[in-house]
Amino acid sequence: MNIREDIEAREKLILRHERSLSINSLGRDVPEEPSDTRTCYMRDRDRILHCKSFRRLKHKTQVFLAPEGDHYRTRLTHTLEVAQIARSIARALRLNEDLTEAIALGHDLGHTPFGHAGERELASLCPYGFSHYSQGIRIVEKLENGTGLNLTLEVRDGIKNHSMKAMPFTEEGKVVRLSDKIAYLNHDIDDAVRAHILKEEDLPLEPREVLGHSFRDRINCLVHDVIDSSIEDGVVRMSPHVETAMMDLREAMFATVYNIGSEAKKEEKKAEEMIGALYRRMMESPRKYLPEAEIRRLDLDQDPLEVLVCDYIASMSDNYAMKVYEDIFLPTRWKTM
Ligand code: MG
Repeated sequence: MNIREDIEAREKLILRHERSLSINSLGRDVPEEPSDTRTCYMRDRDRILHCKSFRRLKHKTQVFLAPEGDHYRTRLTHTLEVAQIARSIARALRLNEDLTEAIALGHDLGHTPFGHAGERELASLCPYGFSHYSQGIRIVEKLENGTGLNLTLEVRDGIKNHSMKAMPFTEEGKVVRLSDKIAYLNHDIDDAVRAHILKEEDLPLEPREVLGHSFRDRINCLVHDVIDSSIEDGVVRMSPHVETAMMDLREAMFATVYNIGSEAKKEEKKAEEMIGALYRRMMESPRKYLPEAEIRRLDLDQDPLEVLVCDYIASMSDNYAMKVYEDIFLPTRWKTM
């Protein structure tokens, strides 16, 4: 018995659902020899962690655009917080922690520069539509490495269906979907307080009475609630009472922080215009501005130009998008010898 087989045997003893076992994965599009030390989900997690799209998350907006302060969340630290919350819940419920972690680390790979502002702009410009969750799937199925990461179906489903309106088919995917909301709601409040655009007392009292009055208390309450509500049958859910409180706080955040006119979002218009300008210029002269890899894909003629331009812009970090914009639209400063 090799190490992977030993881990798979231990999963049978620990995990509560047959369908969570890595040996029961629906598998990859291209079959591969199994690893001798890692299960398929451990392998997927490692592939995501080592990919370039994952590293670019460090300079992508969470809420505050290209923040200068070191303590604000970026897409990368958000992703790590989601993964930590999701793993705690998965372990408590005896779900597959490796599958949960793989989905969590991959869930936001498709985000554009400047967060939802960038996403909105690409969605309005591209005739084929654009969303960060579909883009996440394009990245892992096609773009990363030129061929995609060949992940298991369970991980891809979790990435695709992590957002508000969708529902993944695995319990592990549902854990990540809830953990994403738990993480962003709380750390966005924390960052908004840090940025002096919100005081804890500005948030409505009623949901705070239910969830707690600090970052720590609220995370603790929400995580415990998911565990307590799901522990009996292993079907992941939140209690209606706590979910309502969470949604009320979320709504309050929409009214104060997430809305376009808020202090946190006042630069978003500029970010949208910048993404729009990059898109139009690249559509006009793709061979001049697209990188070599995109031009090769253009010659293969598998995807429309609009989609290739979206792929390239969506892949950019905030910093890189600003640099490309500067290179294209601003005159180069004369450097003295
Ligand atoms: Mg997220």
